[in-house]
Parts: sequence; structure tokens; C-alpha cells
Amino acid sequence: MTTRGGYLEAEDAIVNHYVYSHGGLSPFFRALKERGQLTGTRCAECDTVWCPPRTHCSRCYGETQWTDLSHEGTVRAATYCYYVPSNYKLHEYQEMPYVLALVQPDGASTCLYNIVHVPKVVVGAVPAGMRVRAVFRERREGRLTDFYYVPLES
Ligand SMILES: [Zn+2]
Repeated sequence: MTTRGGYLEAEDAIVNHYVYSHGGLSPFFRALKERGQLTGTRCAECDTVWCPPRTHCSRCYGETQWTDLSHEGTVRAATYCYYVPSNYKLHEYQEMPYVLALVQPDGASTCLYNIVHVPKVVVGAVPAGMRVRAVFRERREGRLTDFYYVPLES
């Protein structure tokens, strides 16, 4: 245990080895890994574009079709994190503090969450309405952590 700023910190590590199937959402993760491309699904009935994708529309239960999405989007909400969950410690690139935001990709009807990298993490650094773009990592694994967002003007 260590002390930082007068508070006691405890190391934590929980590692679970398991395999799960992405099932019908496999194309989403495959596109991240193999093409460095963000994808979603469009409902053929109501035209809702889901990202994260849905195999069937959660609004009208219509069938959906895969579509590539823009790598630019708009922040709808953000939270500032000063503690990292155990599973994020597995990624050597995770820095603290960090900003986790709900981003609505251009053309999508919904938002997905991901990290927004900004030079200095202070409350208000990533306001709702901020335009961002996705940056894909060179080494991708088919996970949401294959990319992160940065302010569009960066
Ligand atoms: Zn629908």
C-alpha cells in the first residue's frame, strides 16, 4: 500500500481468463481490429443507426444492416476518472486521470463511450458538444480500446 495526497492506496488486480463470443456483433469488433473502422447497424424499418450495434433494432425490432460510420463525432457527456478499474490496468497505455465520454459518431443515432485524450485533464476539458475524432492504435485487438478520441482540432 502507498499513500498519495494523504489517502491510502491499495494495489488491485483481478484477472479472469475466459472466452466469450461476440456472436452477431462480431463484425463490429472485426472491423475495429482488421480495418481500423468504426461500424454500426442501421435499422431497415425505422432508420435508427445503432452504435454500439444491435443485430435487431431495440426500438422497433426490425432487422439491421451493417454500415461504416464516420470517425468524427460529438461528445454528449463526459466524466473525469481518477481511479482506474482493474481491467484497465491490463493496458499499458492507460493514464490517469482520464476522461471517459459518451460520443455520438456522425451519422449514428446513439452514443458509445470511450476515452477522450486531452493535454490536461481538468473538469470541463471535454464539454458536451465538443467535436472529436477517433484515433486507432497501430496494434489492435478487436476491443473498444483499439481506439480513443481526441478533440477534432488536434
Ligand atoms: Zn427500428
